[in-house]
Amino acid sequence: MAEILIIGAGGVGRVVVHKCAQEKTFDKITLASRRLSSCQAYQKEVKERYNKDINIAEVNADSVADLITLFRQVKPDIVLNIALPYQDLTIMEACLQTGIHYLDTANYEHPETAKFEYKEQWAYHDRYKEAGIMALLGSGFDPGVTNVFCAYAQKHYFDEIETIDILDCNAGDHGYPFATNFNPEINLREVSANGRYWENGTWIETDPMEIKMVWDYPQIGKKDSYLLYHEEMESLVKHIKGLKRIRFFMTFSQSYLTHMKCLENVGMLGIEEVEHQGCKIIPIQFLKTLLPDPASLGSRTKGKTNIGILAKGKKEGKERTIYIYNVCDHEATYKETLSQAVSYTTGVPAMIGAKMMMQGIWMDKGVFNMEQFDPDPFMEALNQDGLKWFVKEL
Ligand code: NDP
Repeated sequence: MAEILIIGAGGVGRVVVHKCAQEKTFDKITLASRRLSSCQAYQKEVKERYNKDINIAEVNADSVADLITLFRQVKPDIVLNIALPYQDLTIMEACLQTGIHYLDTANYEHPETAKFEYKEQWAYHDRYKEAGIMALLGSGFDPGVTNVFCAYAQKHYFDEIETIDILDCNAGDHGYPFATNFNPEINLREVSANGRYWENGTWIETDPMEIKMVWDYPQIGKKDSYLLYHEEMESLVKHIKGLKRIRFFMTFSQSYLTHMKCLENVGMLGIEEVEHQGCKIIPIQFLKTLLPDPASLGSRTKGKTNIGILAKGKKEGKERTIYIYNVCDHEATYKETLSQAVSYTTGVPAMIGAKMMMQGIWMDKGVFNMEQFDPDPFMEALNQDGLKWFVKEL
């Protein structure tokens, strides 16, 4: 039995708190966030749905001192960072200073430069090891389950994987002309950046959306898929044997791309402060205020997501292609957790990662990415906890 502290009561935080409340491993749950009102709403849902009491707290996760005060009051066994990537380092630091295990779903992002990388988080490895605690990085779907799919392919299907394409499709329709399915600031910074993929030991940069392919997603159909840079590639190139190329593709509708281009052209995706009638504003943060809250999309979203990996390589000298994927239905996830499938596919693996750690199945000292552990128990938990997966030999 373990005590868990979840930080961040947004779209993904709601799923994490619902799934942890359904799971026997966690006997005490605390949800903390910037605003107590968001925590109170989810506390009420959990009581009504599962007749379970959870504790709530207000915290500024940008402050290491505030976090330490909270951790000393709550005394959790593990802290889940389900706030934003900007808070990864403060929460990791507070965990280190208090000797508590850490988990997140997205790698550290510098607020002032639209850039994300593992460097600063990996730099904690030796200090976490000395302190006898563990950090599990990127336990969402992508990163997260996609890393586990790669490790599973490597363990069961290949002697060597030569190429991997990660394929992410959200065919959900929320009925708004434009909205993002997770935090708009993080999402728009990611998709408007240059693309990047890794081939023969070097990173190759592309213009945003320069490379497009059409993929036929099971249960969805053919969709335009665009090459993006995505963080799991940074750790996978280190850990997957024999890899020669890895790319990441995500689907976007023409309407989404047109809206994004217009917003970019008029400066609304800017991350630098601008002066507006005597106030200083950051355009992309103002845009977030205008756009629908991703946590509110659940009740209106219909359709499915399909995220998977296509791996090519050799087994016993023969060429082989394996496709591992999950399909998730927005309406079904809303029924279960009052959340759309993008939040659900992120929140469920976060709960499973914490469960693996607290049950000692995935436990070590230091800072780790998902593919560094045995994928089998995690894959089994995905099937049990709502994210059924399929393997196809192509
Ligand atoms: P939301 O914006 O909906 O939620 C973020 C929550 O964190 C909000 O409740 C917010 O509070 C809170 N928060 C923000 N800053 C602070 C702070 N300084 N102190 C305390 N609380 C804070 O985001 P999502 O739920 O959509 O996303 C959560 C995380 O999941 C993000 O890191 C995102 O990148 C990641 N993600 C990962 C995916 C994956 O597959 N790996 C996929 C999708 C998302 P407030 O309500 O007051 O703003």
